[in-house]
Amino acid sequence: MPIRYFAISLAALAILLPAVAETAQPAATQASVPASPQADAHTPAEESQVTRKHRMKKLEEKLFSDTETLHHQCRYESEISEAPPEKKVLLTFDDGPEPEQTEYILSVLKKYNVPATFFMIGEKVQAHPELLALVQASDHALIGNHSWSHPNFHDIPAAEQATEVDKTSAVLVKTVQEHYFRYPYGNSSCETNELLKSHGYKIVGWHVDTCDWAFDHKGVVDAKEALSCGVLAQNRDNYFEHVISSVRAHNGGIILMHEIHPNTLKQLDALVKRLLADGYVFGKLNDAEFAKYLR
Ligand SMILES: [Zn+2]
Repeated sequence: MPIRYFAISLAALAILLPAVAETAQPAATQASVPASPQADAHTPAEESQVTRKHRMKKLEEKLFSDTETLHHQCRYESEISEAPPEKKVLLTFDDGPEPEQTEYILSVLKKYNVPATFFMIGEKVQAHPELLALVQASDHALIGNHSWSHPNFHDIPAAEQATEVDKTSAVLVKTVQEHYFRYPYGNSSCETNELLKSHGYKIVGWHVDTCDWAFDHKGVVDAKEALSCGVLAQNRDNYFEHVISSVRAHNGGIILMHEIHPNTLKQLDALVKRLLADGYVFGKLNDAEFAKYLR
């Protein structure tokens, strides 16, 4: 690792570590979009705390482990480094389905006639088969496997990882033609890579991580989190502009968002409208030109 990058990363880590212990803030309800997940589910703020914890672990590991070793262990392979097809974007929504949220996202896709892929959590599909059916019936959506219960695959043995994949496969299989998988937190493993390959799955990463989880209920990301998410100083209170500038920086690409985070729901309509106005074409995962980004 270049010394300069190491120094910057180390500084980021030192600043970020105390942030992990911070208490989650309650999530605000949205006026014009679905409010919050069901009472028995984690709030978006709680989910953000979990994501923050796993990202810290990743940052630490990347800093203090040999790159070659991480590569041999297939540890972090979800961020796509290869440039996307010019001016093409591909929307992905993880961690659903969620009542109201899923319907709302589908309505936006329909309004602008753009496609997207929903990476679903198996236990949520089991709880809401009607939402799976709704997404499957949409002309605008593909569906992918995002594990059964959204664990960090680096924290569980290979056999449990396989169960996470296979149980979800079983609830999706009747309706899903293509097989796409996205690792929770992007945390991959060699064993599951092999399993997915043997089951005919394609593994899907991303070019643009919107970090929607890191922006709070007021749409603000603090200085510490902005560092780890690459949010420009001028966009720290502007999730919309952060996404637009990230897409512009890549000139398109596979975009990672979450059904469960209010910032994405609140800004989705405006984001799609703006990306269309800026001349981006919305692609689908089964488009030939996206094939080379799938593993
Ligand atoms: Zn996820």
